[in-house]
Amino acid sequence: MPSSSSSSSSSSSRSSSDSDDDRTPRAKPFACRRPIRDILGGGKVVDVVLWKDIRVSAAILVGIGILWYLFEVTGYNNRFMTLLCPCRAGTIRRSDLRAHPVKKVGKAPEEEHPVKAFGWAANDPSGVFSPFKFSRRATGDEDVRFKILYCGICHTDLHLAKNEWGMSRYPLLPGHEITGVVTEVGSKVQKYKVGDRVGVGCLVGACHKCDSCENSLENYCPQQILTYNSLNTDSTMTYGGYSDHMVANERYIVRIPYNLPLDVAAPLLCAGITTYSPLRYFGLDKPGMKVGVVGLGGLGHVAVKLAKAMGTIVTVISTSPRKKQEALEVLGANSFLVSTNPEEMQAAMGTLDGIIDTVSAAHALVPLLFLLKTNGMIIMVGAPAKPLELPTFPLIIGRRIVAGSCIGGLKETQEMIDFAGKHNITPQIEVVPVDYVNTAMERLAKGDVKYRFVLDIGNTLKAT
Ligand SMILES: [Zn+2]
Ligand SMILES: [Zn+2]
Repeated sequence: MPSSSSSSSSSSSRSSSDSDDDRTPRAKPFACRRPIRDILGGGKVVDVVLWKDIRVSAAILVGIGILWYLFEVTGYNNRFMTLLCPCRAGTIRRSDLRAHPVKKVGKAPEEEHPVKAFGWAANDPSGVFSPFKFSRRATGDEDVRFKILYCGICHTDLHLAKNEWGMSRYPLLPGHEITGVVTEVGSKVQKYKVGDRVGVGCLVGACHKCDSCENSLENYCPQQILTYNSLNTDSTMTYGGYSDHMVANERYIVRIPYNLPLDVAAPLLCAGITTYSPLRYFGLDKPGMKVGVVGLGGLGHVAVKLAKAMGTIVTVISTSPRKKQEALEVLGANSFLVSTNPEEMQAAMGTLDGIIDTVSAAHALVPLLFLLKTNGMIIMVGAPAKPLELPTFPLIIGRRIVAGSCIGGLKETQEMIDFAGKHNITPQIEVVPVDYVNTAMERLAKGDVKYRFVLDIGNTLKAT
């Protein structure tokens, strides 16, 4: 048969080859060489090529290993891997990399800039805070520098301190509800002078060229620079308000109305604008409209106050019946629904024009969707770490909308805080010393705060 004949011929040919004896000893370390050579047709050329390939391959692998080690040492691996895999924790966002390619590495945080600064930072995903020395830039022509007096503790600070969103970079110095008094202004600053009462919220920079920026929506700019855990234009890290002072371009500075104390004003710079913006944008700000607020924490209690000041009829939706009295009597809500009570939820079906959902833990959307009228909408402003279930049936049958909203632009932030000043909207806060921050984080994780911790930076932050 042709196949056996061919096999026999091949075997005979190899046994009579002079080169066979020479090759046998060298074949020992590589058990696969002879079978592979057989498959490929045998012969010295194939054998030499294989042996050469192995040496070349080994050299390439060693070369890649050395390059990888060098990139790992310099930090470039993290940046490269993030392009391929955004879940690589503790590194950099893709948008950051596009906007601000890293120019330098290795300088200590306290040597990066000329002005010494200090605060409290988390050094790893344990989220434990400790004193931290760093530096801030010199006051530029358009910059405002201010002494920080108060800084709110947002739930985002807790998420990022523990790297719960997989995007934290350490040392991480949080805080984006910052208020204080101006100590220095640049030569081209128009709106502020030394002694002014000011604040900084979640943003300290953006491209100022894109559609979002041109519409005063820096909060949606793809190259936005966050107040902390982000990169400055010089590729150094941004550090937040758990620190002694702040410097930012005047575009990102907000003036605090005189009737708002700086401690109670601080949470408005994140919690306030986060809930004010969707109420305005989605048209839930008309007197007489029926607005639901899900979750009565830092964001929720401010949402209730803002929505009430706009003239709407507010229903608080919470899992905790014990919050009912305070929601109605202290915060001024019109009604209260216990979301775990089927009778109450059933009775309220189809009654709300819109809902602001502030919950940052996993929760069921369907019971909330059925509270909405036809064309009603639920706007998500909390950020649960895990995806929520979203069946389409409750959307389809009521032409309902599920939307999201993220803080607000600087123009709107000033508008919000002026509105808060005009209507005397003051968040409920618990002022604590800076060295209480670790306990405050533990309590915040358990929801044990009414309703916002504010760090008393001015009186309790001591240089170490
Ligand atoms: Zn926040
Ligand atoms: Zn932009």
